[in-house]
Amino acid sequence: MTNATVTDPAVDDVPSAGGDRLIEVRGLHAGYGGIPVVRNLDLVVGPGEVVALLGPNGAGKTTTLLTLSGLLTPISGSVMVLGEEVDGSRPHLIPRRGLAHVAEDRSLFFDLTVDENIKLGLTGDKRSRKASHERALELLPALKPLGSRAAGLLSGGEQQMLAMARALVSEPKCLLVDEMSLGLAPIIVERLLPIVRDIADQTGCGVLVVEQHIHMALEVADRGYVLQHGEVSMQGTAKELLSQRSVLEASYLGDAALG
Ligand code: ATP
Repeated sequence: MTNATVTDPAVDDVPSAGGDRLIEVRGLHAGYGGIPVVRNLDLVVGPGEVVALLGPNGAGKTTTLLTLSGLLTPISGSVMVLGEEVDGSRPHLIPRRGLAHVAEDRSLFFDLTVDENIKLGLTGDKRSRKASHERALELLPALKPLGSRAAGLLSGGEQQMLAMARALVSEPKCLLVDEMSLGLAPIIVERLLPIVRDIADQTGCGVLVVEQHIHMALEVADRGYVLQHGEVSMQGTAKELLSQRSVLEASYLGDAALG
């Protein structure tokens, strides 16, 4: 580790809420072309937890999520997602295990309607698809009146909700959300982040959320990790991290996004 750690890893105390850890990463080195940009990462996410992955631009947050989704092959170390090793060889199978990934770019089809975008995430028979669709809208009720609107006409916040709804209809056990605040005003982020908390509380899904607005993220998270230059510089419960505000902010020196 490059900097002082706020607390010893709390990973052994991660609540299991009646199940195994959803994500368990040990000694991960991940990156591009064999060159690691994430080094020696240990990280766990349990059921019903919201875990914030924080850090300045270029720290390695997206690289971590891409590796968890199997889109990048780990250079070394162990990545267990929903009880199976992820080695980058068959990323298309990982969503079927119960992992959903909301990418930074939200990956929406702007010419399709809200309902059509959501339907792209549905699986199963007609009845279960309808039930999944309804459940997702219960968690994101602001989308209910917008079903026939083209995704390209939605506000940034509504687009982020749509991206989450499309992920939720697969009824994931584990949800990765990359930079939900990208391009959004802080007041919108303040409204969106509690939805992540609701998702974890109401579905038991474990959520790993990458966020630049560190204080807002820690208000809804159970625990957090701060990455700096690819290594964990701080980790602990959200309360512990928030109580170390000056150390936390120092890890962002040069970054403006401390909302
Ligand atoms: P941000 O908050 O700006 O999105 P991040 O913490 O998500 O940053 P990453 O996107 O994981 O950071 O990038 C970590 C490092 O890896 C950066 O130095 C970046 O330039 C580098 N990187 C990202 N993608 C590639 C790639 N495809 N090939 C080579 N290097 C890459």
